[in-house]
Amino acid sequence: MKKLTGIPASPGIAIGRVYLYSHDTPAVPRYAVTAEALDAEIERFRSAVGAAEIELSGLLTRPGDDLDEPHRAIIDAHIMMVNDPEFHEQVEHGLRESHVNVEWVLYQNVQRLLERLNTATDASLRERSSDLSDVAGRVLSNLLNWKRRSLAELDHEVILVAHDLLPSDTVSMNKRMVRGIAMDSGGRTSHTAIVARSFEIPSVLGLSSVSRYAEPDETIIVDGSHGIAILDPDEQTLDHYRRAAREFEQHAVSLMKLHDLPAETKDGKLIQLKANIEVPEEVEAVLAHGADGVGLYRSEFLFMASNVHPDEERQYNAYRSVLEALPDKPVTIRTLDLGGDKMAPQVPDLGESNPILGWRAIRYCLSNRDVFRTQLRALLRSSVHGRLRIMFPMISGLEELVAALEFVEEVAAELRSEGIAIAPDIPIGIMIEVPSAAMVSDILARRSHFFSVGTNDLIQYTIAVDRGNERIAYLYQPFHPGVLRLLKIVVDNAHAHGIPAAMCGEMAADPLATVLLIGLGFDELSMSSAGIPEVKRIVRSVSVREAEQIVGEAMELRSFKDVEKYLVHVMGERFGVTDT
Ligand code: PEP
Ligand code: MG
Repeated sequence: MKKLTGIPASPGIAIGRVYLYSHDTPAVPRYAVTAEALDAEIERFRSAVGAAEIELSGLLTRPGDDLDEPHRAIIDAHIMMVNDPEFHEQVEHGLRESHVNVEWVLYQNVQRLLERLNTATDASLRERSSDLSDVAGRVLSNLLNWKRRSLAELDHEVILVAHDLLPSDTVSMNKRMVRGIAMDSGGRTSHTAIVARSFEIPSVLGLSSVSRYAEPDETIIVDGSHGIAILDPDEQTLDHYRRAAREFEQHAVSLMKLHDLPAETKDGKLIQLKANIEVPEEVEAVLAHGADGVGLYRSEFLFMASNVHPDEERQYNAYRSVLEALPDKPVTIRTLDLGGDKMAPQVPDLGESNPILGWRAIRYCLSNRDVFRTQLRALLRSSVHGRLRIMFPMISGLEELVAALEFVEEVAAELRSEGIAIAPDIPIGIMIEVPSAAMVSDILARRSHFFSVGTNDLIQYTIAVDRGNERIAYLYQPFHPGVLRLLKIVVDNAHAHGIPAAMCGEMAADPLATVLLIGLGFDELSMSSAGIPEVKRIVRSVSVREAEQIVGEAMELRSFKDVEKYLVHVMGERFGVTDT
């Protein structure tokens, strides 16, 4: 038995057999090519590229496979990469210079590029390396007549164990057969984690060496709630996890009974429980968990999956598909939040010394009006297909908000002059995730239809603690009295100006925080769909009065440790919240 600890990326427990997957390419031969044979070698390269393009296009049109926009964008980007004239030129030039076989020239070229990409300081460039390996592996396999294993062909249930999964692996894998994922690399925001959460596949990532220790077909336990993977477990451990898996299932099933009931406190306040989504494909899970709508659609995922900014049509189709799938429910789409920790190939690496405090989100959009215009046109056009709400990220003060609102007006006028219909009265709100915005929320409330607090960033900026830095993670505390005071200011200012206060940061999904947030007065909580049922259970078992009393006590406490201790006690005793 071997127990490994990693990052809990998608909750739940899976027990099954290891399917050890690697997308490694075959050994690459090296041999000399005569001058007369060079043209034939180039021809071989071109036909391998042509075959790769046909395979990729086939993925786009595979019958019965309804690929969503980000996944289509990945495949489109790969098609662009195989057809890139510079890539062709480099290989053909290398071939004529070196007089060795084309597989070797291609392999050497790609290795050199990968080295450069893997040591880049820019995270988006590092991420591009998996796309490059993916595309190069495809062409190499064709040159060598080597058949790549495909996760699309999985025909029995497995636990997928891998060093890494390429974007094309997650796009194409048969998700019904993958019961769990254990992977050496990856973190909570990696592509694999997002796909795993949207399909509710229990997953542990960042395990460092699970793919080295795992044997094909051996038994493995994946505990995606606690970030644990156990290889070849003994009977006692198996029993323990079988019980835990049953309890997890039973709890989920019992919570599903609340599906059609409103999230209403005992004294009748309706709390809107909405879903956060990253890709349109998640809409199914939104419906399955009884969400009251989408509280945060992170539109940047559409951009991160592609080498180029998605055009108006592509964006319009993505937004429209979500709106049409949720016809009676509000869908809040956040405008582009790129930059900082969310890099995409289209955003140049400026070598900023503080990118988290740098040229990102609304700042990026306001200085790239063409990009912003394209997104706003797509959003406004999509508004006639459902109940759209638009939200700006990272607003820090009134000037930015006014500039963004004026630009929306300008784009709307442009569309009207083209005779394109737009829904009347689209609510436009802002994320409150910068402390200055919280402090001037009374001013911002006059120009916003709603607030949504992004605690992931608000905590980071308030406590001056990088949300991605493991070394100082102990300081990242949602229950810090400084954070709680800001939350109170925001909700009070929203209500004083007659607008609703929502929260869409991770804190909204924490059952330990639910009563506190109700007591502070939040009207809406938005989270990953799977978190909704447990939060609904708590909402339905408390009254606003009781929640306000609890907030009164919590606000008197002096440190995050005291607040947390108090909440663990109250939430455990009175509301049955345990560490699941
Ligand atoms: C947040 O900051 O809390 C938030 C919801 O936005 P993101 O996590 O996408 O930065
Ligand atoms: Mg944020």
